[in-house]
Amino acid sequence: MKKLPLSQLNAFFAAIAAGQKLYIPAGDAGTAAFTPWREGLELTAALNTSRSAKDLFFPQVENLVGFKVTGKQIEVIESRDPGEHFVLFGVCACDCRSFDILDKVFLAEPEDTYYKTRRENGTVVTLACTEPEETCFCTALGIDPTDPAGDVSCWVLGGQSMRSESQSGGLVTEDSSEAYLYLRAKTEKGKALLESLPMLEEGERPDLDKTVFDRLPLKGLDWSAFGGERMMEHFRSPKWASLAESCLGCGTCTFVCPTCQCYDIKDFNTGSEIKRFRCWDSCMYSDFTLMSAGQPRPTQLERFRQRFMHKLVYYPSTHEGEFGCVGCGRCLQKCPISMNIVKVAGALGKEETP
Ligand code: SF4
Ligand code: SF4
Repeated sequence: MKKLPLSQLNAFFAAIAAGQKLYIPAGDAGTAAFTPWREGLELTAALNTSRSAKDLFFPQVENLVGFKVTGKQIEVIESRDPGEHFVLFGVCACDCRSFDILDKVFLAEPEDTYYKTRRENGTVVTLACTEPEETCFCTALGIDPTDPAGDVSCWVLGGQSMRSESQSGGLVTEDSSEAYLYLRAKTEKGKALLESLPMLEEGERPDLDKTVFDRLPLKGLDWSAFGGERMMEHFRSPKWASLAESCLGCGTCTFVCPTCQCYDIKDFNTGSEIKRFRCWDSCMYSDFTLMSAGQPRPTQLERFRQRFMHKLVYYPSTHEGEFGCVGCGRCLQKCPISMNIVKVAGALGKEETP
């Protein structure tokens, strides 16, 4: 294991950024985002970013290809990103698990080569959580937030609390002289990154106090009533009517969710060429999967049901019981009507469990 005095975090970021692009979570709670590092940019004091880390592998909008039509000739214009190498620092355990879920979708045959290139070029450096929020429930989904996966796992320990805010709003405190960043490489890519950083010292990480996770209000969530076995029972539940009644169809829950992966592909005529681009879509939208024959889910109830059935029933039924949720809590924080997967699972689970 390696370690670095937290007071040298800026130099550490500069050393990484000298070799490849570096993204860190920066900004205030509620709006924090993975941001390209530049001199002086501090790690956020917020536990998690507003939108998840999936943006770096599956961006909200991307150009896929272009076309130029001249008479009967069509010229194909390659507009794919060159595929820069980058380091994504400070990913929470829940977001890191979401990459496994996205991989099972985008890297299944036929592989999505746009996504695959970014996954291959990105080095994921996770940061263990020691101060979760009340909306967190990753532990109920078998994720250990204190030992996140990734190419490199990091822990900030010692000195002041890692989530104490400095005057400028960042993680690094004026009194961080006793605090260290501990780093462990977990893949060859991670090992190569750490070996390229001479300022790292050898060090052993102190033991972690995990008791805070036992006090989380959602730690005992029981989703054993879900999965593929009782699919039709859940599908036909009369509870959907009241659960979906107030849903605005705004799609916020899908856009902040690290595991949502629906997209649309559209062509845009710029006048000089046609750009084919991909953008996120939401199963909560009334025109989602709209076809010339009509809308297969014409009511908000059906669209709402689709989102939660996908995460709680359909995805696990085809992926060995794994749920399409990592317990990040973003939908609990962001839904304007306070509806979320915990409430849905609670209501349906209660009804369906004998
Ligand atoms: S569940 Fe909430 S966030 Fe999601 S579409 Fe409905 S109102 Fe919007
Ligand atoms: S469903 Fe909600 S809690 Fe689960 S991963 Fe998505 S945003 Fe996070």
